[in-house]
Amino acid sequence: MTTSAESSYAIGIDLGATKTEAALVDADGRIADRQRTPTEAAKGPDHVIETIVTMVSAHYLRNADRPVTAIGVGVAGQVDPNNGVVRRAPNLDWREFPIRERLEAAMGLPVAVLNDVQAITYGECRRGVGHGVGDLVCVFAGTGVGGGVVIGGELVRGTSGNAGEFGHMTIERDGPPCSCGNRGCLEAFVGGWAIARRAREKVAAEPMAGAALLHLANGDPERVSAALVGQAASHGDALARELVEETGVALGVGLASIANALNPELLILGGGVVEGFPDLVDIAERELRRRALAAALKPLRVVRSKLGADAGVIGAAIFARETTRERGTSGAS
Ligand SMILES: [Zn+2]
Repeated sequence: MTTSAESSYAIGIDLGATKTEAALVDADGRIADRQRTPTEAAKGPDHVIETIVTMVSAHYLRNADRPVTAIGVGVAGQVDPNNGVVRRAPNLDWREFPIRERLEAAMGLPVAVLNDVQAITYGECRRGVGHGVGDLVCVFAGTGVGGGVVIGGELVRGTSGNAGEFGHMTIERDGPPCSCGNRGCLEAFVGGWAIARRAREKVAAEPMAGAALLHLANGDPERVSAALVGQAASHGDALARELVEETGVALGVGLASIANALNPELLILGGGVVEGFPDLVDIAERELRRRALAAALKPLRVVRSKLGADAGVIGAAIFARETTRERGTSGAS
């Protein structure tokens, strides 16, 4: 029996360091069902694969009313677009892991693998705030900073899957050290870990000004986090607001280079830092408009992500549906 594309489903998987979510997504990008399980990355990649296969098989692969034709996986790490190998995923502690091959062998369905923020970008492009827009860029700031690029309606992955890694764009030549080994990256200012580092330094240097933030952290400077900075800023705390302003300006500096380099129509911002920091989008947009070329700014709109936490699974599922149809289960992608 053949399955018509319109009545079939794709599964989108968001493979994160702490939890893995799988969603059954219809041809219109709507989530029909979802399942969630702890990733337990410390038990190694074989265990993670087994967990995914068990979850997907039990819930989605034996239902004749909801035939599944493809599986898409967004992974928090660097993914080789040519062979679906996870090159490096520090949060999972994976290196050179052939996740596509392993999942295809276990489930007998075509699998597409991409970086998690590339999946989010594709979700927003096809079914979210970027629907109908040809050229767009996503920048997501959470603990780290990731991104994705769509040009002419197509996801740009780059030769080795690295396209859209805006978090590691240098915005200050001799700036603070970054997790990647470089200095002065956008992530070293805007990533949650970097904001927490800066907040702790400020609290230590200015105990009076930092009193409210320290109080929120139960008096322990080590517990000062980006989330607490967002909370304190929402209550009007001056030191926290200063941190938000600095973060927004740094983000705007990065966005100006992105706008000049790629000339998108839409810049989509999301992630925990963007959600949790009051006025961050406005501050970043103000700085962006101060710096970028007029020709890049004229058509540009800066917006927040619309699909929220669902963008990744929806994007991965749609990407799998669209790309694996050409590839089949065994050819090169
Ligand atoms: Zn970096």
